[in-house]
Amino acid sequence: MIPAIGPNPQPDARSDWRQSLREAITDPRELLALLGLQELADRLPDGDAGFAFKVPRGFAARMRKGDPRDPLLLQVLPQPAELERVAGFDDDAVGDLDAVVAHGMLHKYRGRALLIAAGSCAVNCRYCFRRHFPYAGEIAAAGGWREAIARARADASIRELILSGGDPLVLSTQKLTDLTDALRGLQHVIRLRIHSRLPVVLPERIDEAFCAWLAALPLQRVVVLHANHPNELDASVGAACARLRAAGATLLNQSVLLHGINDDADVLAELSERLFALGVLPYYLHQLDRVHGTAHFEVPDARAEALLGTLRARLPGYLVPRLVREVPGEASKHAL
Ligand SMILES: *Cc1c(COP(=O)(O)O)cnc(C)c1O
Ligand code: SF4
Repeated sequence: MIPAIGPNPQPDARSDWRQSLREAITDPRELLALLGLQELADRLPDGDAGFAFKVPRGFAARMRKGDPRDPLLLQVLPQPAELERVAGFDDDAVGDLDAVVAHGMLHKYRGRALLIAAGSCAVNCRYCFRRHFPYAGEIAAAGGWREAIARARADASIRELILSGGDPLVLSTQKLTDLTDALRGLQHVIRLRIHSRLPVVLPERIDEAFCAWLAALPLQRVVVLHANHPNELDASVGAACARLRAAGATLLNQSVLLHGINDDADVLAELSERLFALGVLPYYLHQLDRVHGTAHFEVPDARAEALLGTLRARLPGYLVPRLVREVPGEASKHAL
């Protein structure tokens, strides 16, 4: 049994997820105090290291008390190493700014276009490849999605729209409805994909109104979750996944390979097993995008490939994620 800080948010359709979002912990000292780790406060970097601190209380409740190496804590706790300049780690490592084709829309790969739907997330992950993204100017939902819709209408090669972020599920269900209402006339768009960490870090977001919207869409629906460690997946996440599946969504998961957090075959195998138990298939295991402030999370390719070899020998093929890296200019994610 993992000791919890408080009761997990109940998977109650009436609970107000916005309230949970507003009540997220925004001071690392508060989180450390809740975990009985006050002594670590002396090792926090000055200021916010260029990226605000934000952790929903329900996610914090899944961290082990008194454990400075807790794998959920390490994903969110600012480290002095974030301030170090490391050669090869830049602000836009994946060439996103070159792929902008309309306000908030990135089109890199054939058949699918990605919308930077929102400019914030429910949790701020220290390894995030978008921690330096200039969101202010590039939010697809701003201005009623107008540019993104116009572009999708004009380009019949776009079969799938991907809502990404920042996290698209911090938007209201009404805002999402505005987008999908405007897509109704577009015969060529057949699929909507949502990339979100909220089903994991704020599962109460998957409420009745959201599921009703999702279930009624005249589109194929894919939800790609983002969990990196099996400890992230508790009963509240399981309930959110069940609601998503009942609304007709295919569920996949993407993870980032992170030094000291999930660069371990036992952890990755357990993650795949627990995901499958919730009706989620592992999709991508990403090699870290090399953005400034994240070098301490990097796992060398040789070690990543060895870990995947171990996983292949242990799990059915469908539970082994694809190990990939984003290489600017390539026609797809690059398989290692
Ligand atoms: C990763 C990514 C996608 C999705 O790629 P898939 O291989 O289809 O999952 C689409 N567009 C952009 C800009 C991306 O970065
Ligand atoms: S949820 Fe995703 S986009 Fe948001 S901070 Fe975490 S990794 Fe970055």
